[in-house]
Amino acid sequence: MTLPPHESDPYGDVGAADFRERAHELVDWIARYLDAPERYPVLPPLVPGATRARLTLEPPQQAEPLAKILEDFESQVLPGLTHWNHPGFMAYFANTASAPGVLAEFLMAALNVNGMLWRTGPAATELEQVTTDWLRQLLGLSEGWFGMINDLASTSTLYALAAAREADPALDVRRKGLAGRDLPALRIYCSQHAHSSIDKAAMTLGIGLDNVIRIEADAEFRMKPAALRDAIAADRAAGFLPIAVVATVGTTSITSVDPVDAIADVCAEEKLWLHVDGAYGGVAGAVPELRHLLDGVDRADSFVVNAHKWLFTPMDCSVFFTRRPDVLKRAFSLVAAYLETAEQDMVVNYMDYGFQLGRRFRALKLWMVLRAFGAEGIARRIRHHCELATTFAGWVKAAHGWEVAAPHPFSTVCFRHVPAGVPPGEVNAHNARILDRVNESGDIFISHTMLGPTYVLRVAIGNLRTGADHLARAWALLCAAASGP
Ligand SMILES: *Cc1c(COP(=O)(O)O)cnc(C)c1O
Repeated sequence: MTLPPHESDPYGDVGAADFRERAHELVDWIARYLDAPERYPVLPPLVPGATRARLTLEPPQQAEPLAKILEDFESQVLPGLTHWNHPGFMAYFANTASAPGVLAEFLMAALNVNGMLWRTGPAATELEQVTTDWLRQLLGLSEGWFGMINDLASTSTLYALAAAREADPALDVRRKGLAGRDLPALRIYCSQHAHSSIDKAAMTLGIGLDNVIRIEADAEFRMKPAALRDAIAADRAAGFLPIAVVATVGTTSITSVDPVDAIADVCAEEKLWLHVDGAYGGVAGAVPELRHLLDGVDRADSFVVNAHKWLFTPMDCSVFFTRRPDVLKRAFSLVAAYLETAEQDMVVNYMDYGFQLGRRFRALKLWMVLRAFGAEGIARRIRHHCELATTFAGWVKAAHGWEVAAPHPFSTVCFRHVPAGVPPGEVNAHNARILDRVNESGDIFISHTMLGPTYVLRVAIGNLRTGADHLARAWALLCAAASGP
């Protein structure tokens, strides 16, 4: 019997020689790709089912050669992808899978470390402790934070609110749950512009959407501390049990910054857990002159910042900090007999701090990315993105019929076209048409948001390849789309 080369061992993995050859080819492919992702349209044709139509719908029965699989990746899968590493990607929050991060992912897959316990990856655990502390120092935060890496900010915020729910041991939620007992409804507070992950955490934790209280924001979209204080007082008077406040540094729609210091005062008075969501904006702390945007964060109980958003680390890598790891551990630790280890009181076993048992070796990519750019290199790049945003906002302000819709403290600009001829009731639809036309170009991908009843366009700069030329192209496309029929 002769087997194809990659199946030289019918009971084993694909052969080493085949792997080596394909891996070399793939490295060349990836290097070419990262060098010029704009050879592909940033958005694929948006035809639901188009990829499925190219795929074989029955599972493969026989082994197929890697070379053929990679060929099919290129012809069947790639044409249906949105290219996040494209310099024209300016939608949502643009990000970058940087070269050091890509290399780290390759190593992570090869090592396949599961850092659930210290002993299942001693270096993984200790690297996570050290790199999260590097990030703390880079962002200018004080000592005393416990750091861990999760997949997403959604997870980190869920953990923060789970800890807040457990902060008063008398409630004993971990044992008794929330339902069918002597407990009033728990309440969580955040601004009307806070991220939906807070609502989802409330849904997941049994707190319920009705108990997420959205606090009014001021004219610059920042939570009003006085309104927060009033809401808490009213809730207490009505018999509710406030447990936590979530402040945001860089809201998702408009990147506004809540007054964290003033909110921390309220939380101190009311003895509430303060979580700060800096999923996107938190990284600005790496730039000395922007560090003031994080004022007050040091007074919080927990803080999340995504390295996979604006810190050049491939999806996914969300860094979660808490000053109260003991409470987080109380919320989540449950050590089955087969997971007990002799060293458990001397080390951090990260499984004790979340609902995940297994965990990826994400610290490796953060370590490699931070080293490959250095604090100065990171600050320079973040600053550059903010300068590009200011340039873009300048073009919008100077152009007739265009307006900037909100302050832009980071690298994201919200704006819209309000031409003289268009009736007020049709301005939203007019801007939605501009968005569609621009995105059909394949050169640029932008998104939108609603500021109350107002539809606004949004340009988010965060990819390392995006430069002034791409921004100029975006502006030219926007102007052309706005003046079209
Ligand atoms: C993007 C974002 C999130 C969610 O991030 P994930 O990592 O995708 O869960 C949460 N909060 C803010 C402010 C964000 O911008």
